[in-house]
Amino acid sequence: MFNKQEKQESLEILNYQIRSCESCSLSVTRKHALTGEGNIDARIMFVALSPGLKEDLHNKMFIGPSGQVFNKLLIAAGIERELVFMTNLIKCMLPNNRKPKISEIELCSQFLDEEISLIQPEVIVPLGYYAGRAILQKYHADLFESQMDIAKTTFGKLLFLNGQKIYPLSHPASLLYNPSYEPGTVEKYKKLAAFL
Ligand code: SF4
Repeated sequence: MFNKQEKQESLEILNYQIRSCESCSLSVTRKHALTGEGNIDARIMFVALSPGLKEDLHNKMFIGPSGQVFNKLLIAAGIERELVFMTNLIKCMLPNNRKPKISEIELCSQFLDEEISLIQPEVIVPLGYYAGRAILQKYHADLFESQMDIAKTTFGKLLFLNGQKIYPLSHPASLLYNPSYEPGTVEKYKKLAAFL
């Protein structure tokens, strides 16, 4: 267990390691390796896949089109962005929004593991398929085979796996393509507000 100062110092060291990481080829195409952002005592940690173009350019989480949807969902659910912690499974942008390679996930998720150990969120909210699969596997729920299985069987359900609450949700970007899902998604975010 860390006190606040130890947590802050450890996070600063970790963030320095992330920003200077050149362990995979994504370091060549990125402008910034994004570190997690938000309240270090947060009870809720959101985990997205990777920074988008705008996030990479401005070195800030969730400021592109998906981020605008995310902000709207938080506001609709009464969740203050300042109270949560947000991070990515992969810290560097995936060129042209390509799919992540297994090797990139395996290599980069060491940073996410450390963020989770430091923040110790009560509930982890992976957003979308890749973050969901990685978090479920981390907590030994590697029983989901396909993208559809994960979405159908876990999105919007509160899971208890090896002592950790996990609440997988679809990625906010999905509302850009399917705006009709918004009311249902807002309801799922409202359930999260209870943890605050
Ligand atoms: S994606 Fe992760 S492992 Fe690869 S260079 Fe960026 S921070 Fe390092």
